[in-house]
Formats: sequence, structure tokens, C-alpha cells
Amino acid sequence: MASLLAASRPVAAAAVATVGPAVGGGGGPRGMAAGRRRGKGSRGAAAVAGGGGRGGGDGDGEGDGGLDDLFENNRHWAAAMRDGDADYFRKLSTLQRPKYLWIGCSDSRVPANVIVDLPPGAVFVHRNIANVVTHTDLNCLSVIEFAVTILRVRHILVVGHDACSGVTAALHPPGHGALLDAWLRHVRDVRVRAAAELAALPDDTARVDRLVELNVAAGVANVAATGAVQAAWARGDDLTVHGWVYKLGDGLLRDLGVSVAGVKGVGEAYRMGQPEDDGRAKGG
Ligand SMILES: [Zn+2]
Repeated sequence: MASLLAASRPVAAAAVATVGPAVGGGGGPRGMAAGRRRGKGSRGAAAVAGGGGRGGGDGDGEGDGGLDDLFENNRHWAAAMRDGDADYFRKLSTLQRPKYLWIGCSDSRVPANVIVDLPPGAVFVHRNIANVVTHTDLNCLSVIEFAVTILRVRHILVVGHDACSGVTAALHPPGHGALLDAWLRHVRDVRVRAAAELAALPDDTARVDRLVELNVAAGVANVAATGAVQAAWARGDDLTVHGWVYKLGDGLLRDLGVSVAGVKGVGEAYRMGQPEDDGRAKGG
């Protein structure tokens, strides 16, 4: 796993450059430039905000990826937001009403809000290695429950990506560490269930790509099988679970066509209540 993870390790400056989200409520990649500006005149404030400005002993932050850079970026970003709407933070602090729950990979190259160019407040996010959704993960299940019962999101997006280190590791023998092996066992189980299909593919790249898709489809099925999502459908909520894959090479999302919008799309063994409660399964 170490070598597989190293392949996706970002350059610090590149990681900082992707932090800037859209400004205001209207979309658009305006935060990027603001986030990258540098102003020596404001470094004193960064020192205060950082509790001394030493950045945890990680250098002085002058372009070397130290933590001072993050505070400086933050100040520029906040200023740009206020420039667009002087009331922006006051309004955002009193209201969270996202339409989307994003369940994605922790990979630093796949930041939810940035990819879909949405501002803070628009996407509720859960990320873990290889975007796994499983019925024993209280963290993920709690996020789903909060999203559908309190926030009342309309769409749950399970998003994988190509060249995923976690998925790639699941195609290799275990031995990456006890916790990582245990976590990736969920992806490995998907691999085992599709062994014949994967074996027929021409090379490892194709196998990773396909396992990424299958893992997303498994995630969609597992989200749809949760009690929280089925309860939402039972009370008539308009809620759809989608499976997408993001391509690092072109920055584009693809819909896998595995969406589930009602209890009939849930495997019978996991289905709550009567099938006629809601019959809007679609995709496939
Ligand atoms: Zn990944």
C-alpha cells in the first residue's frame, strides 16, 4: 500500500492551489485566484491565527507549503468571499441546506466542492479510502442518516475515481497493514464477486477501472439498503442515490447509470416495508 499511496501523493503547492472554492452563491471558479494570491502585509495576522506562526515547525511558510501558507490563503479567500457579498459569512453561518450528499474517496485529487464547482453550504461530504459504503461503518451511516433526515438532501452521490490507490491495492495480495487490509476487504469482496469478469479484461488498468465502477455500484446498493434512506422513501421524500466515476485525466464526471430512486431498487433481502410503497427504481 505504501508504494501505491505514494503514487497519489500530491505536491504541496498543487494541493494548496486546489483549495479555493467558488465564491458566493452563484457558482464559478472565482476562489482559485484569490486563494493563490500572496501578500506579505498580512503575514502578522497569520501568525496570530496560527498561534505563533511557526506552522508547527514546518518552516516559515513562504512558498514552501508550510502552514502559514494555509492561513494566508484562508485570509485571501475570506476577503474574496466578502468582496462578493459582504453578508456572505453571516448568512452561511445561520443556514445549511445542501441538496447533495457526496460520498467519495479521500484522495486529495478528488475534492467534492471543487469538482462540481459549488460553494460552501452546497454539498454535505463524507470521504474515506476508496469511497466504501458498508453497513457496519457508523461514521458513514451517521452521515447518511443526518443528510436524509435532518438536511433532507435530494441526491446522494457515490463517487469513485480512476487510478484509485485503495481499489488498486484490493487487486493485489493483502499485507498493507492490518487496518488498511480490513478496510479494503470491502473492495476485495467486490473483486471476488466479479472475479470472472475482471479476469477477462485485457490488463490491470482495465481491471482497476472496472473494479472502481463495481465498487461504486456496490456503494450505491448499500446506501439504498440503509434504513435511513428507505425511511425517507417511505415518507415520500424525493431522494435518488447515484453512482459516478471521476476521471483524473480529463476532470470529468461520468454517471454509471446505477441510480436508485425508490425501495424497488433495493435488493429484496434488504427491503423494508412493502414494495408497492414506492416503485421508482431507475437506471441499471
Ligand atoms: Zn481513491
